[in-house]
Amino acid sequence: MKTIGLIGGMSWESTVTYYRLINESVNEKLGGLHSAKILLYSVDFAEIAASQAKGDWAQGASILSGAAVNLEKAGADFILICTNTMHKVAPEVQKHIGIPLIHLADATADALISAGIDKVALLGTIYTMTENFYKERLIARGISVLIPGETDAALVNRVIYDELCRGVISAESRAQYQRIIEQLQAAGARGVILGCTEIGMLIKQTDSVLPVFDTTQIHAHRAAMEAIADR
Ligand code: GLU
Repeated sequence: MKTIGLIGGMSWESTVTYYRLINESVNEKLGGLHSAKILLYSVDFAEIAASQAKGDWAQGASILSGAAVNLEKAGADFILICTNTMHKVAPEVQKHIGIPLIHLADATADALISAGIDKVALLGTIYTMTENFYKERLIARGISVLIPGETDAALVNRVIYDELCRGVISAESRAQYQRIIEQLQAAGARGVILGCTEIGMLIKQTDSVLPVFDTTQIHAHRAAMEAIADR
């Protein structure tokens, strides 16, 4: 079995979910007492969030590249960055290591294509929703991406940093997300990407009128399958 290198802690709330889901997927395939071989480098999210807020992506890239180099040295066969947003610096991180990085947007595009969805709503941080680094990889695969209007995008972003990354789950925020998903459905979306690794804590398939593509589940499952691929 290959060893999975996780760059986590962004936030740790979702890294916990990654750890559980990867182990569950490996065990489901291999049975018995099998579990995943995982190395985890968990960063201090306050440092990452501060660098994002300052627009200092070079600082975030440097922290994550250092983590990736250490994971490679420790024996990881491939790397996951356990957040959508910090994929903004994924190409920079990849330059520092000789092992592959499984890109979350690519894994999500694969899942959408398998489901036959070519028009999708994207919920995530303001960076993921409004900048190109993430959406362009979906668009390159023939998928159109719809995002909320400015006020709702700000709300989605605020709930991520002020609630979900702090472990707060609010019924009121869930209702707001549901309203926004319904609006994006009316605008033509045929599925919704939970494009922030904490949104799955708030929105489950049963909460959504659209088929849900939970990036934490997609990424964790892909990692587990890659780890056991040659067995
Ligand atoms: N975990 C979130 C994501 O998937 C947000 C945290 C971050 O800014 O990295 O984008």
